[in-house]
Amino acid sequence: MSESKSWNRYTGIDCFRFAAALLIVAIHTSPLASYTQTGDFILTRIVARVGVPFFLMTSGFFLIRPYQQNRDRLKQFVKKTALIYGAAILLYVPVNLYNGYFSGDGLLPRLIQDLVFDGTLYHLWYLPAAILGAVIAWRLAKRYSRPMALAIGGLLYLVGLFGDSYYGVIEDIALVKGFYGLLFQVFDHTRNGLFLAPIFFLLGGMLGEGKQALSLGKSLWGFGISFVLMLAEALTLHHFQVQRHDSMYLFLLPCMYFLFSALLHWRGARMPLLRDSSLLIYLIHPMVIVTLRLVSKKLGLQELLVENSLAHFLAVCLGSVAFSVPAAALWERLGPKRGRPADTNRAWIELNPEHLAHNAAELQQQMPEGCRLMAVVKTEAYGHGAFAIASRLEQMGVEAFAVATLEEGIRLRRYGIRGEILVLGYTSPGRARELKKYGITQTLIDFTYANSLNRQGMAVKCHIKIDTGMHRLGISSQETEKVKRIFRMKNLKITGIYTHLCCADSRGCREEAFTREQIRRFQGLLEELISSGITVPKTHIQSSYGLLNYPELACDYVRVGIALYGVLSQPGRDTRLQPKLKPVMALKARVVLLRAVSAGETVGYGRTFTAARDSRIAILPIGYGDGLPRSLSNKSGVMIRGQYAPVAGRICMDQLAVDVTEIPGVSLGDVATVICGETDAELSAPMVAETAETISNELLCRMGARLPVVVRSHLGQI
Ligand SMILES: *Cc1c(COP(=O)(O)O)cnc(C)c1O
Repeated sequence: MSESKSWNRYTGIDCFRFAAALLIVAIHTSPLASYTQTGDFILTRIVARVGVPFFLMTSGFFLIRPYQQNRDRLKQFVKKTALIYGAAILLYVPVNLYNGYFSGDGLLPRLIQDLVFDGTLYHLWYLPAAILGAVIAWRLAKRYSRPMALAIGGLLYLVGLFGDSYYGVIEDIALVKGFYGLLFQVFDHTRNGLFLAPIFFLLGGMLGEGKQALSLGKSLWGFGISFVLMLAEALTLHHFQVQRHDSMYLFLLPCMYFLFSALLHWRGARMPLLRDSSLLIYLIHPMVIVTLRLVSKKLGLQELLVENSLAHFLAVCLGSVAFSVPAAALWERLGPKRGRPADTNRAWIELNPEHLAHNAAELQQQMPEGCRLMAVVKTEAYGHGAFAIASRLEQMGVEAFAVATLEEGIRLRRYGIRGEILVLGYTSPGRARELKKYGITQTLIDFTYANSLNRQGMAVKCHIKIDTGMHRLGISSQETEKVKRIFRMKNLKITGIYTHLCCADSRGCREEAFTREQIRRFQGLLEELISSGITVPKTHIQSSYGLLNYPELACDYVRVGIALYGVLSQPGRDTRLQPKLKPVMALKARVVLLRAVSAGETVGYGRTFTAARDSRIAILPIGYGDGLPRSLSNKSGVMIRGQYAPVAGRICMDQLAVDVTEIPGVSLGDVATVICGETDAELSAPMVAETAETISNELLCRMGARLPVVVRSHLGQI
């Protein structure tokens, strides 16, 4: 199985970056100036203005994304951009010297202003803008809801707009003009990291989430229309001479959004060379311009290479590309190795969001009309990472979540989950204030508990749990009076009532009869409530197996856990419904060490594995500390290069040895699949769980502790 094949590669983005770089060269060389002024204006002051925003959106696309909101990524980006900026500044010092940049008054304030905002040469403003824009967008995305962050980014852009191509509109308003006058003391243009960059980072990030994925047709239409509108806008502003500068247009925003979203549809081969050389072209083209001038002066070719604008543009492009592509290729070979996400150096959980979406849709389809999915995301979403799973589900329209503890619920709120959150387990009544503050719904596990929660004096949303035979949590279904009294408790807002089935996974006669009895008891209680005039709140009974074996129950919710993650608890269980589920998680680790072990030698603690022949052993840096059951020692195995490698010896807390003697060509860095993302495969979660004498539920939920979660569709880019 070739892994990288299934990862998304954004060919369209890589290719357009190259085009964007050439457009930026056009801005600085005015290709059509020798022929038509209007044509040149359209090309360099309108069309080419997509170049820089596109660069910014690309960065935002990979940086401002919710699944891996880790600060290190931002730091890395800032550090890398600052390094490039530093190098570029040094590169252009000779040009600055030649231009007399360092002579003249007020060098220090000018230098500071240029370093932070305007760049020390005309094109370099982009790098500080990228840094500042990234930081601002990051904070906005972290702190505010998506619409709010976009609104703030949009507002900043608007402020920038009136200092840029709409300046003439406000020029007559003294107060506003004064305001911009102040701004222009700090920087020369408003097309900078503060006003221009954040919104494009955010738009890129939003597209990176994949939520608003538009069809290709819609994207192209949207692009076409907004592009025409932008042309009209810019030409109108130009005609009335309103522009102070010409980097920012109102319709540039939709234009970029649709353009980017259209390009996302173009996936295929990865083009790292195009991507990397685009940055180089951008960085060095002013140097090429200078060199070209000097050289053509020496050779007497000025007329051809400098004075004819189109030839000049083409020569600069050619020179920049001729330098940048080989340099990028060289960098790729000699530079630090990348392409391997930091999180996948050791061992990791790989999520397949498409499978999650598929399962949610498949399960929802099986539910009766009006019944909705309550996604059970307790224990880090069964080890998959609560953040990645819940945010993806919410984007798909799931509005109800269930967790086991208040902490889990609060964490979901902090991640920005706005739907209903039900705590299935016990919460100390003393924490009623937090339940209320975070708008989290609490399960009433019995009458005494309800009473003491009510006495806290906080209005708390609750679901009543009814015990219909499992004898775990809940008020007995026979204690009708107590249930009615709970409805009268004045601080408890009863929004739901539910029970839990204890043998719905089995289709044996006795289990079915018991389950039907549980359902009958629950429905009997509801009828009694109705007959005493109580409005029955939302009801739910089934969990995964409840839905699969008793799909006809018409409740308001189904609490689906394990099935949502695309596996069932055990292999080969017969269920009435057999939806095609796809596993969301795969567990992988890299080969970090290979060693030869001679026949008769042993491997690991307790010497439980003895090499029967001269063997090759691979060490994987994953162990029971990551959640892998120790009971798999000398059992189970992993897949490397498409072949099975059995576990050799005891699984340690952090390491695991496998026998790869039979697999040719295993080398360091190879990826070993410990749990695979396919149904019914030998290493599927239910099979591995069975080997470990447990169920998938336990196997998976152990994985939440130490392993990084990597979303598969992002892997190619990190
Ligand atoms: C965990 C849990 C579920 C989810 O069960 P699955 O079998 O994983 O679908 C549903 N209801 C309650 C009360 C639970 O504790």
